[in-house]
Amino acid sequence: TDLDHIRNFSIVAHIDHGKSTLADRLIQSTNTVADRDMKEQLLDSMDIERERGITIKANTVRIDYTAQNGETYVLNLIDTPGHVDFAYEVSRSMRAVEGSLLVVDSTQGVEAQTLANVYQAIEADHEIVPVLNKIDLPASDCDRVAEQIEDVIGIDATDAIQVSAKSGIGIEDTLEAIVHRLPAPTGDRDAPLKAMLVDSWYDAYLGVVVLVRIMDGVLKKGQRIKMMQTNAVYPVDRVGVFRPAMTTVDELGPGEIGFITASIKQVRDTKVGDTITTEKKGTDTPLPGFKPSVPVVFCGLFPVDSAEFEDLRDAIEKLALNDASFSYEMETSAALGFGFRCGFLGLLHLEVIRDRIEREYDIDLITTAPSVIYNIYMKDGSMIELHNPADMPDPSTVDHIEEPRIKATIMVPDEYLGDVLKLCQDRRGIQMDLTYAGTRAMVVYDLPLNEVVFDFYDRLKSVTKGYASFDYQMTGYREDNLVKMQVLVNDEPVDALSTMVHRDRAEMRGRAMCEKLKELIPRHMFKIPIQAAIGGKVIARETLSALRKDVTAKCYGGDATRKKKLLEKQKAGKKKMRQFGKVDIPQEAFISALKMD
Ligand code: GDP
Ligand code: MG
Repeated sequence: TDLDHIRNFSIVAHIDHGKSTLADRLIQSTNTVADRDMKEQLLDSMDIERERGITIKANTVRIDYTAQNGETYVLNLIDTPGHVDFAYEVSRSMRAVEGSLLVVDSTQGVEAQTLANVYQAIEADHEIVPVLNKIDLPASDCDRVAEQIEDVIGIDATDAIQVSAKSGIGIEDTLEAIVHRLPAPTGDRDAPLKAMLVDSWYDAYLGVVVLVRIMDGVLKKGQRIKMMQTNAVYPVDRVGVFRPAMTTVDELGPGEIGFITASIKQVRDTKVGDTITTEKKGTDTPLPGFKPSVPVVFCGLFPVDSAEFEDLRDAIEKLALNDASFSYEMETSAALGFGFRCGFLGLLHLEVIRDRIEREYDIDLITTAPSVIYNIYMKDGSMIELHNPADMPDPSTVDHIEEPRIKATIMVPDEYLGDVLKLCQDRRGIQMDLTYAGTRAMVVYDLPLNEVVFDFYDRLKSVTKGYASFDYQMTGYREDNLVKMQVLVNDEPVDALSTMVHRDRAEMRGRAMCEKLKELIPRHMFKIPIQAAIGGKVIARETLSALRKDVTAKCYGGDATRKKKLLEKQKAGKKKMRQFGKVDIPQEAFISALKMD
């Protein structure tokens, strides 16, 4: 296809504002998919993604659209991963297209993710067409939302398209706007091949599939291509496009988006953002902006039943095949036995992987306290990256410790602002900015990542009754007064519960953890002390009293629901517990103990 007849775009939106529904409608109205094959949310493929409304892998569809001027255009839609954990992947997908539809729910207005995503589009120099969705709803207020888009984002919204993706209003207008308001790509067919590796995944039949955007040159079957980051060379087996089913084509030229397969063994051999060229007479200048993707949150995954270790290994290896940003290595813990230390791009990524192991592979897991990476500067001048609090060196050998920080952007109706400020303050946040757009406040905080990874988002949702939206990016490392806090159950340290905490918060955290554990650990035939300690010094203590013969005896005549609850708790607990010394600790304790209510 010649460049003039190609349009490449993405859709940016806050979650639930209608990105997937609009994509479905664009696909359907152009007969890209026969009606009988149309299923909802065509672009969201995995089950968990669907349930959680997130997309992890970039997804593409090529649409042929005959415009009102009679000419046929190729429209390539890239659906980007929808979550802050995948910001770098999003930025690469954005670089692969020239424009964006900015979808805003006209009953809601601009939200934190709308902003975060639209800034990515602006950074990638996109032409942006605002789309006001859900105009079928009575609460729709296009004027107000258009004004808000201009005030908050600073882009012209006078020609915003009014759409109901659900009832199919404004779809033709949207397609026309894509053709006439978004720029065509540029590129030189005769130049050496230069293509961006946008994403990759493992396909059971085809092996590793690579999503590419051609900048210059032509990509064809039989060519020997080189990945510029790894210098690896592969023969191209197959070249194709997504309609959205994979369809083979002869070649991909400048401006086009499609896939290749090239006998690549593992997804790990492909780096998102890498430049693909030919082995001979290739380009010398890679595309700018490549970053290796590095895990930021770590935790241990152990099977509840140690006999399932090999099954867990199998599950983790399979998942890692398809996810280069998920890292793992074997770990042994005195208390938990054999397991894996795993690294993730963020907490959501962690939860997705854990859920998949539990559901798809049917393995009950103990997930140890998630930890960020601390930089430990030793007195001898060396620096250690600490991925696991259990490995913390003797404090007397440590000079100082740095922790990762983030810039968090929170949007919230002003009646909840006070609660949000308090939450951020409680999490050692430093306020950077506070502005208003109508009755919504936008507040920017500098926060330690470790204060955010456990339950910040849940807390934020709960103090704002679900009205706040949140987005963050990593900013760098800063020194602070951090110590390792250990938890001792029945006088035995439980490494899986060790955490790094700020010295000033240690007592409070320690007390909260001991109280939580006291609730979570079932009573035994003997008394169990639960302690939090820094170094050798106990800073908090609770005692779980011994069990009487009849667990529920003391409840008789008392509160019947409490008795029922106790029995249920014990029943549920039985299945998923591990023994630490003589004490059974339920699976849920490891993460719950860290959440602060
Ligand atoms: P996404 O998270 O941005 O992909 O949003 P979805 O496309 O999954 O839509 C979120 C919800 O809004 C779904 O329940 C849709 O059915 C609904 N929705 C999307 N577009 C419209 C619309 O134009 N009108 C109405 N009433 N609902 C819509
Ligand atoms: Mg969606």
